[in-house]
Amino acid sequence: MTIELTHWIDGKHVNGTSGRFSDVYNPATGEVQSKCPLASDAEMDAAVASAKAAQPAWAATNPQRRARVLMKFVTLLHRDMDKLAEALSREHGKTMPDAKGDVIRGLEVAEFCIGAPHLLKGEFTNDAGPGIDMYSMRQPIGVAAGITPFNFPAMIPMWKFCPAIAAGNAFILKPSERDPSVPLMLAELMKEAGLPDGILQVVNGDKGAVDAILDHEDIGAIGFVGSTAIAQYVYSRGTANGKRVQCFGGAKNHMIIMPDADLDQAADALLGAGYGAAGERCMAISVAVPVGEGTADRLMEKLIPKVEKLKIAPYTDGNDADFGPVVTAEAKARILGLVDQGVKEGATLAVDGRGFTMQGYENGFFVGACLFDNVTKDMEIYKQEIFGPVLSVVRAKDYEEALALAMDHEYGNGVAIYTRDGDAARDFVSRINVGMIGVNVPIPVPLAYHTFGGWKKSVFGDLNQHGPDAFRFYTRTKTVTSRWPSGIKDGAAFSIPTMD
Ligand code: NAD
Repeated sequence: MTIELTHWIDGKHVNGTSGRFSDVYNPATGEVQSKCPLASDAEMDAAVASAKAAQPAWAATNPQRRARVLMKFVTLLHRDMDKLAEALSREHGKTMPDAKGDVIRGLEVAEFCIGAPHLLKGEFTNDAGPGIDMYSMRQPIGVAAGITPFNFPAMIPMWKFCPAIAAGNAFILKPSERDPSVPLMLAELMKEAGLPDGILQVVNGDKGAVDAILDHEDIGAIGFVGSTAIAQYVYSRGTANGKRVQCFGGAKNHMIIMPDADLDQAADALLGAGYGAAGERCMAISVAVPVGEGTADRLMEKLIPKVEKLKIAPYTDGNDADFGPVVTAEAKARILGLVDQGVKEGATLAVDGRGFTMQGYENGFFVGACLFDNVTKDMEIYKQEIFGPVLSVVRAKDYEEALALAMDHEYGNGVAIYTRDGDAARDFVSRINVGMIGVNVPIPVPLAYHTFGGWKKSVFGDLNQHGPDAFRFYTRTKTVTSRWPSGIKDGAAFSIPTMD
């Protein structure tokens, strides 16, 4: 029987009332396992109204007490790790170890946010002028919202709501309608950790719910993560409505392999970074750029047998699978269509995973690993984010050509260089126009206390996610200039005051 999922409003599960639902699949079997309610404008209005009503008391709760909720939340995440990972794998398709990684990378941001009292401390200047003190404080926005993608259904919601809530906001989370169960479970845990009702509302939905957030006059800040076209749309419409908006979009991450690199290490790094989570990561490496024909030939020799041996399996098959199915039948069809196009455009398909089927799971959304060689800049498989288990090798004749490839690509999320030469690495780090860089590290996802964000078409807005930037994004600065009566006894002043 298909389960009907809910929204989470005012600390409890609430059935959808719009009459609209979307199907949630088990990607391994291809079966519909539940229905996700798609909120109407009226449902969004009700969720925002009660968030708005609950927020002032939460903002007035001292930051230490707010942080203690997150402290407890972290403990509960550890307690329920297996349960969360299982629910996540069942809807997303990723392996259980990878699903736990998804939860842990979110949990680390919750841990960072326990430092909110320190992060929210303002600035103070004693004696800024005669008898004058000046101080700046950070105050919450009020009601903030987060719109999140399917590929990290635990981590990205936590990247959004943990700092927003620690800073004293109420939060409306609109998770991906493809895997909404884990966000609902996270909301239950936040309640168990002591969060007052109304401070975290999970409103499920599609474009309708997103538009309702973008146009809602009581929502002051919106954090979005998803594909670039939607990121740009959310940014334009949200900022046109006067909101603070940060949107993180798609990616095409290059890994440059210099002739002096340890090629065994580089090939292993490409396997994990290219095919882990079936390539459904915004920090996946989807382009390998060996420098020099000799490097390219040797790399291909090492890569081909390794890619052919990758183990693809449903998450229920144990923890030794390399990756599972992709998220939906549409995603599978799109990936296979792009691989066909790459072949038509003249790239060499060195490993062809198109015919892969999983015995016993013939209706699952499995795609075999594909490896392209001789990919060129003009090909669609190079220009587009494929978001599947497909790695493209683009051969560069020298370092400058490799650098230019990554620099000229419209996306600028992550990039990596493999080399033993410190000088090449330093030059690369200094010149590349990409937000997150790995030196002999294939997936350079910054830790919770640094910030996460790309450049170019991978981002719209000016502050990054998590780390100190998150507290800047979810707060407003208020600056007070204060002078006490002893300074006024001299009488009125009629020229603009200066502090010299
Ligand atoms: P998506 O853009 O399809 O969906 C993201 C969110 O937008 C979802 O909540 C969805 O319901 C909503 N949405 C979808 N279509 C919409 C529309 N027409 N109007 C308004 N809202 C809409 O993205 P996805 O497929 O869920 O996630 C994969 C994408 O996310 C990839 O492009 C990946 O690179 C990107 N991503 C980026 C980062 C980053 O930090 N840069 C992190 C993870 C994923």
